[in-house]
Amino acid sequence: MNPPSTYDIIVVGAGPAGSLTARTAAEHGANVLIIEEHEQAGTPVYCAEALGMSGFIESGLEPVEPLIAQKINKVKVIAPNGKIVAITHKEIEGYILNREHFDKALADKAEEAGAEMMNNTKALEVIKEGGVVVGVKAKRGGEEFELRAKLVVGADGHASVIRRNAGLKRYFDDYGITAQWTVTDINLDEPDASEIYVGSVVPGAYVWVFPKGKTVANIGLGIRHDKSRPAIQVLDDFIANDPRFRDGKKIRKTGGICPSTGTLEKIVDDGLMLVGDAAGMVVPLSGAGIHTSITAGRIAGKVAANAVREDNVSVERLAEYHRLFEEAWGKNLRDSRRMLDLADKLTDDDMNRVADTIHQEDILDIVNGRNIIKTSVKIALRDPLFSLRFVGKLL
Ligand SMILES: Cc1cc2nc3c(=O)[nH]c(=O)nc-3n(C[C@H](O)[C@H](O)[C@H](O)COP(=O)(O)OP(=O)(O)OC[C@H]3O[C@@H](n4cnc5c(N)ncnc54)[C@H](O)[C@@H]3O)c2cc1C
Repeated sequence: MNPPSTYDIIVVGAGPAGSLTARTAAEHGANVLIIEEHEQAGTPVYCAEALGMSGFIESGLEPVEPLIAQKINKVKVIAPNGKIVAITHKEIEGYILNREHFDKALADKAEEAGAEMMNNTKALEVIKEGGVVVGVKAKRGGEEFELRAKLVVGADGHASVIRRNAGLKRYFDDYGITAQWTVTDINLDEPDASEIYVGSVVPGAYVWVFPKGKTVANIGLGIRHDKSRPAIQVLDDFIANDPRFRDGKKIRKTGGICPSTGTLEKIVDDGLMLVGDAAGMVVPLSGAGIHTSITAGRIAGKVAANAVREDNVSVERLAEYHRLFEEAWGKNLRDSRRMLDLADKLTDDDMNRVADTIHQEDILDIVNGRNIIKTSVKIALRDPLFSLRFVGKLL
């Protein structure tokens, strides 16, 4: 049977951004189709699977197994000299997910709300008429066909074919290449504590150890600057050098790209919206994009459904989505990007000095992109000699 070909909204990609967009649009009365190139939403996993409490709550799901693997109550930031700064503030509480189950549950919710799911279907290009996006060319099995809609949403991840093919930004000006092993048969002292290693081990990024229980963790890293050595080699060295992990069993390898520019300048066009990674909505300093994708999907879905009902999918009408997302996350993402630029200027020695004077509240402000400049100055002033060097670097 040929797939039905006319919808209000076609969402390309059933990640968190696509599923939340589809669910919200369907809840607002739109006739929605999601197409997903894989057999099932959430598989394969390209993620370290960390999500803060507020992001989880915004997903509308219950924090139960198998969606979550481990509750996190503590984050340990480890300076290049091994000094540990521990954060136990309520604000860092969250979960290490089982992303395949989490994403599947989000997709199921979208279907429950009335969206139609078409798996094993890959979008190849957008269809434009008179400069307006009116559908996608797609492929399932050996068969190519057209799907038409009043509005197309590109939720197809960082490499978004929809974004590129519609003539928006080809790729991000800055990004991290990541690698990760899920390692079992280890014995963690504090399975409720995530670990973050900063410094020249991976300049411009960090190494993470995110426990999925006492005996298993996602161990990974990102590389932003020197991409001459494959990320997986740097990671294998890190694991081999840690006596807790070197005899563990590496059971799942993953990785991928994390855009680190913040939201792209243009994320809507006539008949087109981009959400989630496709739009660059990743927190630059942390590489986290699940929560931003959830927020973006909720906003995009509502604006999309209203725009379709009003029969106005012009770029001007859809700009409401961009404006509302900016209100929710814009400042955080911009400040986080500024913080990344600042962190790029710090040597291992600088980071060791910062580790001596930083408070957990400062780290929370930095990670959340709040009061970035004020916090940086506050930290620097606690160490007058360092602050002189720091100001020199800023200038
Ligand atoms: C190694 C790694 C670790 C990460 N760790 C974390 C973390 O711990 N916490 C966090 O918050 N973020 C993390 N991120 C980022 C996070 O995974 C993304 O920001 C998030 O998944 C974005 O959601 P999305 O829905 O926009 O895109 P995605 O989750 O990438 O979903 C896109 C969907 O579109 C589908 N698709 C793609 N192209 C097509 C096509 N042409 N046709 C049909 N379907 C298509 C894909 O199959 C996929 O299902 C990590 C990223 C990486 C690479």
